[in-house]
Amino acid sequence: MKAAILRTAKQPLHIEETRTPQPTAGQVLLRVRACGVCRTDLHIVEGELPPRKQPLIAGHQIVGDVVDGATTELPLGTRVGVSWVGGIDGTCPYCRRGLENLCDAPVFTGYTVNGGYAEYAAARSDFVYALPPELDDLHAAPLLCAGIIGFRSLRVAGVEPGDRVGLFGFGSSAHLAIAVLRSWNCEVYVLTRGASHRKLAASLGAAWVGSETDKPPVELDRIPEFDYDRLLWGERQIRSVANMTRSDARDFLKIAADIRLQPKVTVFPLERANDALAAVKNDAIDGAAVIVP
Ligand SMILES: [Zn+2]
Ligand SMILES: [Zn+2]
Repeated sequence: MKAAILRTAKQPLHIEETRTPQPTAGQVLLRVRACGVCRTDLHIVEGELPPRKQPLIAGHQIVGDVVDGATTELPLGTRVGVSWVGGIDGTCPYCRRGLENLCDAPVFTGYTVNGGYAEYAAARSDFVYALPPELDDLHAAPLLCAGIIGFRSLRVAGVEPGDRVGLFGFGSSAHLAIAVLRSWNCEVYVLTRGASHRKLAASLGAAWVGSETDKPPVELDRIPEFDYDRLLWGERQIRSVANMTRSDARDFLKIAADIRLQPKVTVFPLERANDALAAVKNDAIDGAAVIVP
C-alpha cells in the first residue's frame, strides 16, 4: 500500500510503498477513505512529542471501511471512524474508575501505533465508531479528534443549553464546538488572533467577535488571567481536558449527525501530506486539512 512515512522527526514524510497491515486478534483492517490532519500530528512529525515508534505512519482522524477482521457488530464494509485514543489497558486505576481518557498505558493512533496517512490502517475493533450516513467522509474526518475534544471541553466545562460561553482562540476544535453551542442556543463570544479566524467565527454565529486584546461587551472569565478577587469570590474553576473517552466520541458523533455538522475542509491527496502539515502549521487554511489516499 501507499503511505506517508515518518522515518526521523523533523524530516519530511516519505510517500512510499509499504506492507499493508494484517489485522491481529481484536483488530479490524480499514481501507482508508480520508484522514484529518491534527495539530498533534505536526507536533509528532516535528519531534515536539518524543518519538514512540519509528518509522511511523501518523494520522488519528481516520474514516475507513472494514475490509478484514469483520465481526457481528462490524460487518465487512462498515464505514467507521478512528480517533486519537486507539486502545486502553482496561486494568489501570484510571480505567477501573471509568476514566479511560487518563489510562496509564494507552494506545495512541498515529503515535504509538500506525495511523491513517495511508491506504490501509489497522485499528482495535472496540475503538472504532460506526459513522452515521449524515456525515460524509471528508466532513467526518476532522470531527474525530478536533470535534470530539471540543465537545469534551464543553462537557467538562459543564456548559448547559442557553449558557453564555467565551471561546478564547478559534482553531479547529472551536470552529466545531461553536456549531454544537449554537444548536444549544448558547450565546458565544469569540476572542481570537487573525482576521480570517474572526471572520469565520462571525459566519458561524458568534454573538460577538474580537481580537485577543479586545474587551468583550459582557463579563466572561478570562483564561488564564483570572484576577484573584474574582477567583476567590466567584468560586471559579479552571478545568483542562486530556484525550477523550469512547462515550465522548459516540455522543458527539450523534449530535454532529443530528445538526448536520459540516466542518470547513481543505483536501490534500496523500502525495501532498507534507503540504497538508505545512498548511496547518502556517494557519494557511481555515478549518481542517483532510488527506485522501
Ligand atoms: Zn488504563
Ligand atoms: Zn488530534
